[in-house]
Amino acid sequence: MTKSAQLTEVLLDRRLASFNRLWQMFMESESRIQRSGGKVVAKWRLFPPEIIYALGATPYDLLLHEGMTKTTTKDARTTAYAIEAGLSADSCIWNLTATSNTLSKGNLTPLNMFVATAGQCDISSKTWQLMSRDMHKPIYSMEIPIYDAASEKRATSFIKEELTSLFERVGRRFGHKYSERNLREEIKRGNEIRKLLLDLTGSLTHDHVPMTGLEYFLTHATAGDYLQEPEALTAILTEIRNEVMKRTEQSKAAPGITNDPTRLYYVGMAPQDLRFWNIIEDSGGAIVGCDTYLPLFHSPIPENGSLLKEFAGWIWKMPHHMPSLDRAKSLIPYIKQQKPDAVIIGNVIGCRNLSSSDRILKETFREELGIPVTSIEFGSSEDVTLLEPHIKAFIEMCK
Ligand code: SF4
Repeated sequence: MTKSAQLTEVLLDRRLASFNRLWQMFMESESRIQRSGGKVVAKWRLFPPEIIYALGATPYDLLLHEGMTKTTTKDARTTAYAIEAGLSADSCIWNLTATSNTLSKGNLTPLNMFVATAGQCDISSKTWQLMSRDMHKPIYSMEIPIYDAASEKRATSFIKEELTSLFERVGRRFGHKYSERNLREEIKRGNEIRKLLLDLTGSLTHDHVPMTGLEYFLTHATAGDYLQEPEALTAILTEIRNEVMKRTEQSKAAPGITNDPTRLYYVGMAPQDLRFWNIIEDSGGAIVGCDTYLPLFHSPIPENGSLLKEFAGWIWKMPHHMPSLDRAKSLIPYIKQQKPDAVIIGNVIGCRNLSSSDRILKETFREELGIPVTSIEFGSSEDVTLLEPHIKAFIEMCK
């Protein structure tokens, strides 16, 4: 099955013409880095991509591009390489699949390096170590202290030091000299994308929701690495934003979204199988926001003042670095502004990170938002369509 034939398995909004170009760009990420010839750095999904661009290298969001199942269970990928390399079979499926796919390429992989951060989940940290060892590629890491409102000054100066050290160590390896001017330029380019993603997120607050959940999820997931071409991505996102705005001006909802749908905010790691987003609309719902990649574009990175210090402060405030209660509270304003009727929390089996915070998130959202909240669990081998009765019943209950 060719990649374009596979598209028929997932329902895309074909009337959003500019989105087709974005989808193409998504599908070509892997071949694009293979052709690039430059240094390619595998990054965890929420590691800010401008750090890698400022090192003259290209970031690659490994979980997104190597872990996402773009079609149906028919193309479910093997996890054998990851397990052989030492990853436990009960690890989360995103890591199992992404690791297996990456290791299966052996010497053909275009990756030159892995970057890790203490803020990434423990399973991803282990996976990065395994891949680095098996592929004989270096791994560099950066510590980020857990958020604690009382230690802002200490924490930001620590992160600033970590950034400086990363720029020095990786820069030496790549023969690239760090310059504040470069970083400022990269932050500026990244902020243009952030602004577009925030505009698109804002468009979902309209009564007639102009984008389907699948299109919104894929659009906001581009924050992971800007699909290796920030300028081309900016151009496409601008077109998407303009098309979407036209729909809002004409009070038109995206095709497939019912009249007066149940407005849902999604929190947590997304399912691998993209059909999940179709199920939401088929069940009478509409996605009006999603926090999976929100920490990367929750606000623009300050471009002025002491750049590294401001950047360090922004990193420290990324919601995923926070303990569960702080994270839940920090998400409240973002969720509120999307005016949802209910919240869905997604948990991936094998993810200790999110499952342990599920209860706190649920209680905090119920108390502070006063709307229904449900949790769903994504298994490793289950067909995502098995979740349909749960989603339908929840949406029905919210009507
Ligand atoms: S689902 Fe959990 S374990 Fe898997 S990559 Fe995401 S945060 Fe890490």
